[in-house]
Amino acid sequence: MTTDSSNKTSLQIATRITESILAKQLAPGTRLGEQQLADLFGVSRTLIREALMRLAARGIVQVSARRGWYVIEPTAAEAREAFEARRVIELGLLRHARPLTKAALDKLHDHIAQEQSAISGDDVGARSYLLGDFHVCLCECLGNNLLSDTLRDLTARTTLTAMLRQSSSQAVDSCEDHVHIVDALERGDIDEAERLMLDHLQIVESTLYDEVQPNDPLNALRTALTPVSAAKGRRAATQSSNPSVTTPARKSAMKSAVGKRAAPKTSSKPTLSSLSTQSRASSNSPGKEMEK
Ligand SMILES: [Zn+2]
Repeated sequence: MTTDSSNKTSLQIATRITESILAKQLAPGTRLGEQQLADLFGVSRTLIREALMRLAARGIVQVSARRGWYVIEPTAAEAREAFEARRVIELGLLRHARPLTKAALDKLHDHIAQEQSAISGDDVGARSYLLGDFHVCLCECLGNNLLSDTLRDLTARTTLTAMLRQSSSQAVDSCEDHVHIVDALERGDIDEAERLMLDHLQIVESTLYDEVQPNDPLNALRTALTPVSAAKGRRAATQSSNPSVTTPARKSAMKSAVGKRAAPKTSSKPTLSSLSTQSRASSNSPGKEMEK
């Protein structure tokens, strides 16, 4: 049976795992062995199971008979839903926001200063964590602790989807967006803060779909049906004379171009599927990531 103090501990362990996900130290699909976590945290397996069950209820980990416990691997559709949920919550919070207190504004400025120092110090873990945590902090500053827990879990889900995808220049852009959002709130311009937040979430999300595309069920067939090199020249000529022929890659490039910033080049970065393979490969030593 669980006592109050062990309850607290399982909550602390769950919080630690969530923080590691926000810091991108735990990849999607990473196996979370009960015994290894118990050894690592120096607690019983019962407590670890409680922590993992908390996280399962919050949609952050899953369990299967074959794999045991593992960090969720959101599909493209699940990622889209998580961003949609974040938009509803974050824009709704801003729309109904009361003017921020001096203490709340100080807290937000302090948070942004921490983001900037993590970015300039090239601390990728802290940078990822802080950039995601800004949204949770803003929610708390807007006075809603109930939604901040939900938002933390949703941010963990979108972080898992956007895993390893954020370059340092994107991190700088994200932090600048945060500065402008807080500036607008400080001026009391709620409409502008809401518009900036919408843009910000859309840009973060748009970098995702280029990468998620390998999950497209037609992708294997599409790759297999890529014209052989001898036919490429002819085909390119046909396509340029027929602009209605739009490949998914061009569609996503067009979509990205709608945003205020150019989409990052994605060709050299890991795809969602290669990432899952990597994390499964590294899941032989699940304790490793926790020690970082
Ligand atoms: Zn942000």
